[in-house]
Amino acid sequence: MNLPIINHWVGGAEFEGTSDRLADVFNPALGVATKQVRLASTGDLDSAVAVAKKAFESWSTMSMTKRVAILFAFRELLQARKHELAEIITSEHGKVLSDALGEITRGQEVVEFACGLPHMLKGEYSLNASTNVDVYSLLQPLGVVSIVSPFNFPAMVPMWFFPVAIAAGNTVILKPSEKDPSASMWVANLWKEAGLPDGVFNVVHGDKVSVDGLLEHPDVESLSFVGSTPIAQYVYEKGAANGKRVQALGGAKNHMLVLPDANLDLAADSAVNAGFGSAGERCMAISVVVAVDPIGDDLVNAISEKMSKIVVGDGTRSCDMGPLVTQVHRDKVASYLDIATQDGATIVQDGRGVTPDGDENGFWLGPTLIDNVPTTSKVYQEEIFGPVLSVVRVKTYDEAIALINSGAFGNGTAIFTNDGGAARQFVTDIQVGMVGVNVPIPVPMAYFSFGGWKHSLFGDSRAHGEEGFRFFTRQKVVTSRWSDPSHGGLNLGFPQT
Ligand code: NAD
Repeated sequence: MNLPIINHWVGGAEFEGTSDRLADVFNPALGVATKQVRLASTGDLDSAVAVAKKAFESWSTMSMTKRVAILFAFRELLQARKHELAEIITSEHGKVLSDALGEITRGQEVVEFACGLPHMLKGEYSLNASTNVDVYSLLQPLGVVSIVSPFNFPAMVPMWFFPVAIAAGNTVILKPSEKDPSASMWVANLWKEAGLPDGVFNVVHGDKVSVDGLLEHPDVESLSFVGSTPIAQYVYEKGAANGKRVQALGGAKNHMLVLPDANLDLAADSAVNAGFGSAGERCMAISVVVAVDPIGDDLVNAISEKMSKIVVGDGTRSCDMGPLVTQVHRDKVASYLDIATQDGATIVQDGRGVTPDGDENGFWLGPTLIDNVPTTSKVYQEEIFGPVLSVVRVKTYDEAIALINSGAFGNGTAIFTNDGGAARQFVTDIQVGMVGVNVPIPVPMAYFSFGGWKHSLFGDSRAHGEEGFRFFTRQKVVTSRWSDPSHGGLNLGFPQT
């Protein structure tokens, strides 16, 4: 049976390109391929970049008032029709519908933030820096910018970048994950409906070939990458070597520290929500609970009891947790349970035996809890990216801090305590980019910036917020002297555009 083919989106329309390479796109809850996606050739990418470069000429000079109107229209359409996008996400990623809606809402917040572009693009002005000499600064767009996104947030992660990039006057090539590419096509259609000129937002589907093409193309100014750490590092190094701006957000291994005085009920709820939401396929998921003596047993029992209530199944039904994204990924995640046993950890709950509310062929793995994980084990050291929560026990706060700070990643972390002084000390001591205090997934709001430390972020710019606008603009400083004042003629009305 011929499956429907997902085309690229270039110049405001679907684009087939010339490559005959295709990849299967699965419905993870059914365990079958339901579509195929085109994998671009370098030539296909070149065509898209040429279109984006042409569109930049007029988009970059369009007035801010007109740009805001288009962003606002996009926001209104998204708000009205986000359930359509959520269904697409669930059908290709597997996460439950409410979670898909949640990621769209977080992405929409960046669109709302980007609607404030006139404020964010204001320069500075110094009158009479020297006698009759003024100095002012401008922020100008880069040109054609590119975004390469991971499978786990097919709507939100691209929306960390493209609203700001477009608001700042750039044109965009988005290379979404080939595992769940349809969300980006829905978004492209929405932009068109919102009145975005053709060629400003383009989608090129593909794999390493198109990412390398973006990294090498002389007309691509920047790359905003989100994905696993080895690829993020590769993208950062290659992009930087080619003179591009790169922000490359990588993997994570997020610890949740629970002190003996914490509210254990809240901590256990939080560990379960943050460990198993979206089947653990979140870069801000909690994957390690660090229990400080003597609360280990009580905490593990509370987590175990609460996670027993999680209903695993098809995300379109009323379940809490869906399948994993592919069979290959599901098997890789499950393989860590064998490693845990070999390394002497205790499997408290084993997700391999789950009975899902869904098709038996789905890529199922239930919530898994592993206690007493040795910190020398790969289960502790590697990013698993699935519904596997590890517990490590420590004797003191200092031991916990040393452990967390010794890790390779630095994306998110949280402390659970009722001691304000301890929380304050933790916020200061911890070498992690996003920190929660009695909040397990401390994702910053759109008007702050998102990004981790160490191997969770290569480059010095985080996503959205003020840094987002800085990343997508070049600053220029002008020193000027005018000795012959003149005026612009009569105009009694309000300027409209
Ligand atoms: P991935 O690294 O496999 O893929 C990410 C992107 O890179 C995709 O678009 C993919 O097509 C492309 N790609 C894959 N192989 C490539 C190669 N050899 N060369 C160039 N490009 C290549 O990641 P994934 O499995 O899609 O997503 C999960 C990962 O993303 C996890 O590690 C997770 O922690 C990370 N992530 C990080 C953040 C963050 O903010 N730090 C957010 C979301 C996801």
